Amino acid sequence: MRRHLIVVRPLHEHDCCACQLVGIHKGHDLYFCPPSRVEENGSYIARRSSDGPDYVSQPAHIVAQFSDGILGEARRRHLALQEMLMAFHDRMMPPGWD
Ligand SMILES: [Zn+2]
Repeated sequence: MRRHLIVVRPLHEHDCCACQLVGIHKGHDLYFCPPSRVEENGSYIARRSSDGPDYVSQPAHIVAQFSDGILGEARRRHLALQEMLMAFHDRMMPPGWD
């Protein structure tokens, strides 16, 4: 069985080390920034260049309501990744191990 590891590197520099790259779309690096507190729900970010302020971001619950545009794309990619990871987890872990 062949195994492939796909390493995706962001196009631009980004200054938040908590952010998770969820994809690249039309020249934008798309990120999910996890919440710092349990009661929050994180935010989505689309960075267009390495210039510090050259990005857009919205809280995840706002993006969930208006899911079009570049941040909607970030959310779709993030949810798809989460689903993949859940499926991977289910395959790797014997029943009763979560
Ligand atoms: Zn971040």
